[in-house]
Amino acid sequence: MSRRDALVAALRLRARRCRRRGGILMYHCITEDTADPWAICVSPHAFDEQMTVLAHARAAVDLGDFAGDDAYTRTGARIAVTFDDGYLDNLTTALPILERHEIPATIFVIGNGVGRTREFWWDALQRALLTGPLPEALDFPFGFSPTGYTLDERPGDDEALTGWRADFDAAVTSRQKLFRALWDAIVVLEPTEQDDAVDHLLAWAGRPTSPPTPRRAVDAEQFAELAAHPLITIGSHTLDHPSLTDLPPTRQHAQILEGRRTIEELAGRPVTRFSYPYGRHDDTARAAVRDVGIDIACSSVPVPAITGDDRHALPRLQPTEMDGDRFTRRLREDYGLLTGTTR
Ligand SMILES: [Zn+2]
Repeated sequence: MSRRDALVAALRLRARRCRRRGGILMYHCITEDTADPWAICVSPHAFDEQMTVLAHARAAVDLGDFAGDDAYTRTGARIAVTFDDGYLDNLTTALPILERHEIPATIFVIGNGVGRTREFWWDALQRALLTGPLPEALDFPFGFSPTGYTLDERPGDDEALTGWRADFDAAVTSRQKLFRALWDAIVVLEPTEQDDAVDHLLAWAGRPTSPPTPRRAVDAEQFAELAAHPLITIGSHTLDHPSLTDLPPTRQHAQILEGRRTIEELAGRPVTRFSYPYGRHDDTARAAVRDVGIDIACSSVPVPAITGDDRHALPRLQPTEMDGDRFTRRLREDYGLLTGTTR
């Protein structure tokens, strides 16, 4: 971040601290994983510590409170928990922890993700590219050709991958650059092409196509178990997890409408919450979300929610792997939340 960006961010934060505010947390997987360029995994132990902080502060509220005025306070005392995508560990690992602390959560599930037996493309891509050795040359016939690409690994490049964040850190090594270029190319492909593309890359990299992976989606039965649980509210997350802002309006609308319909049929009840895949939205997407009757929708802009925010594009903070003390400091010092509590 440049000094100017840092200054703007600090001023923005200060302005937000003057308003009534609350926090919406965005989790994905509750599991341990070494290659995690988007920091979407939080270990069960860290998640438990983070939920303990919310429980001790009596901060946890249902996301629905953010549709009205209840969630916004001068001290940022209310915090809602959400999960994206519909990973199985939300049921097997996160739910018992939520139960122990009596914390409600909203899980945004991809319509065609339920019952999916293979990894999501972004998980397969990071497994292909960011773990183990790679061949030098790549032929990638999916609308993107890294012409002349050669893997030019230098001593120390391996270590550069550890803890590398694709969203914050610069891509420095040839492997990091290739990962980013491929991610940008694959995100805009059709769903079947995305799977073909990562199959091609897994084969090229010499990785198994279907490994035992902790990052697995729920099946219909597991989804029903989540949907029936009193602490859980199910939201939708489109039908196929496209980059909505890269789609024409009719397809945006169809992805939002069909995703919601699929999840409603599976849940057997109305679904009125939504989150934007990759946090990407524009005027058309927000209008479509309102149009299909969604009550509250979340983006991934990492700032607290404040009074006056559009309830169809509420920002969310992304907790990463950190213990309870660090989590508390992050909420207080970076986001101005939980400022009225002593722990
Ligand atoms: Zn997602």
